[in-house]
Amino acid sequence: MRLLNKIAVITGGGSGIGKESARLFAKEGAFVIITDIHAENGQGTVSEIEENGGKAAFYEVDVTNPEAVQSAIHQMIETYKKIDILFNNAGISNVGRVDEVEPDVWDRIMSVNVKGVYLPSKYTLPYMMEQKSGVVINMSSCAAEMGLVKRAAYSATKGAVLALTKAMQVDYAPYNIRVNALLPGTILTPFVEDYLENSYDDPEIAIGTIKKRQLSGELGRPSDVAKAALFLASDESTFMMGSPLYIDGGVVFG
Ligand code: NAD
Repeated sequence: MRLLNKIAVITGGGSGIGKESARLFAKEGAFVIITDIHAENGQGTVSEIEENGGKAAFYEVDVTNPEAVQSAIHQMIETYKKIDILFNNAGISNVGRVDEVEPDVWDRIMSVNVKGVYLPSKYTLPYMMEQKSGVVINMSSCAAEMGLVKRAAYSATKGAVLALTKAMQVDYAPYNIRVNALLPGTILTPFVEDYLENSYDDPEIAIGTIKKRQLSGELGRPSDVAKAALFLASDESTFMMGSPLYIDGGVVFG
């Protein structure tokens, strides 16, 4: 088991990639702490893990709320004594060119996708620094590296997460803390289903276009990204520091 006795926190673990990663981390021996804004989904992930013999807990937390994040991390440390892995996964998307995005929508996506990486990190890293060990995984996207039609605000957030990852790595390397980023291509999750439904007249045509853009010819699965997250969380990736890991079916470099 690659994560035996590790305590792993996954934000946005109630759905999609976060949920799949929670299942996989638990199978590999971790105690998984799922946080999400949607309590029912987060609890659902915990129940599934427990039914399969794994260990997990749920905290209802909005990653944009400093007091809520700080208090949840504090409670986790009180209860579980340490956090070995922080997977900053929670995120939202939106559709629109710069001239189409309203300021409140811009602020919300920046808040969830960027501040939502900063806050859990801010309140977890002091404990990791004390432990002199830890792994942080930040969810970026191939949108950080390539122009995607009508994804202005979203792309800006994911570029920011990639830059933040590198800055964090430099600051926390002396404490034996690794910080890396995941850059998925298009992965079929509720997030993408929602995006397809709301941005294209015919989602089938949109899926066809996206599949053609990825060299694999297929959309990715949440498990493709979860396996990469597991690699970054485990000791198999100890020489990866501040790195972008692409799980994109070849869309960025293809
Ligand atoms: P998803 O919608 O299935 O899951 C996102 C989860 O985040 C949900 O459970 C949601 O409730 C939670 N969440 C949203 N806002 C929150 C908040 N304020 N506080 C706490 N939790 C919150 O989406 P997914 O596709 O699994 O996406 C997960 C991450 O992967 C996101 O950061 C997304 O940008 C990134 N990503 C996804 C794709 C893709 O194609 N699906 C590609 C690249 C990157």
